[in-house]
Amino acid sequence: MTPFAPARDFLHATLEGRFAGPRQWQTATLSLQWLAEGVLALAPLDATDTLDHVLLSTGIHGNETAPIEVVNSIVNDLLAGVMPLRCRLLVMLGNPVAMRSGARFTDYDMNRLFNGAHISQPQAQEARRAAELEQLAADFFRAAPAGVQRLHYDLHTAIRGSVFEKFAIYPYTDGRPHKREQLLWLESADVSTLLLHSKPAATFSYYTSHHFHADALTLELGKARPFGDNDLARFAGIDRALRRLVSGSTPPLPAYDASRFAVFHAKYDLVKHSEQFKLHLADSVENFTALPHGMTIAEDGDIRYVADGGEERILFPNPKVGIGLRAGIVISPCQLD
Ligand SMILES: [Zn+2]
Repeated sequence: MTPFAPARDFLHATLEGRFAGPRQWQTATLSLQWLAEGVLALAPLDATDTLDHVLLSTGIHGNETAPIEVVNSIVNDLLAGVMPLRCRLLVMLGNPVAMRSGARFTDYDMNRLFNGAHISQPQAQEARRAAELEQLAADFFRAAPAGVQRLHYDLHTAIRGSVFEKFAIYPYTDGRPHKREQLLWLESADVSTLLLHSKPAATFSYYTSHHFHADALTLELGKARPFGDNDLARFAGIDRALRRLVSGSTPPLPAYDASRFAVFHAKYDLVKHSEQFKLHLADSVENFTALPHGMTIAEDGDIRYVADGGEERILFPNPKVGIGLRAGIVISPCQLD
């Protein structure tokens, strides 16, 4: 018997704090494990060891509600048996404490605390949670037999609007090639803009990519709005692609053609070294806004960040971050290696 009824589903059970220790149960077709608050593992009852391992994480930032609602509705349909499951699926609602208060985070930005960085912020509830999610992700991917696909999609929405509404961040691959198949799958989710990270990061997707060689991506799917305020039609592409992925019904994807994708790489971070940091961009500036050649992007004491070449763009500008943190990324177009 499922501990969540349809009217009180996984998301609502999580928001209501109803997790009371790990438990397992079965439906007519699924084996389920409620492993931790906001963490549910699903597998077909007849699972074989050739199944792909798919991790869907969302709500790492608690106010990014649309992808939480998308994933929850997929879980509902799997539990109700209206959609088959053809993979081992681990679903994580990342930051329930922040989700309950409608906040990006309560103590510290969780997506700066993975890959061991949680040790640096022991007072933050997000640090304990990041460590817990790392462990659960590690257990999940370590159990994957050699040769099966390990996929991790970390689903977000952004603080601000974007010139390209939906985009993906491909974490640094430690030299492994970027996979065209991942871009083609993204395209099937209506995402054709990509940022390639060029160095390790304390993000969840880098953690699973680095440690378990998961094909991991951070997806930015639109603008953050409160629960109930989302126009879920704007998320139809990712909803469709994820449903096909977990139910094993992804159709053959077209051949890769670079001209269909906008690919950027990070040139450098705008680092806030002091309280004198001043960003010379409007508060309302959108992600991927072009930076004209010669423009002073930001100043920080004697440091000036000046746009060069005319093809650079700004991503994630946020002058309100703490000292020593990234207040934006300057990116430029690149070719996939
Ligand atoms: Zn986010």
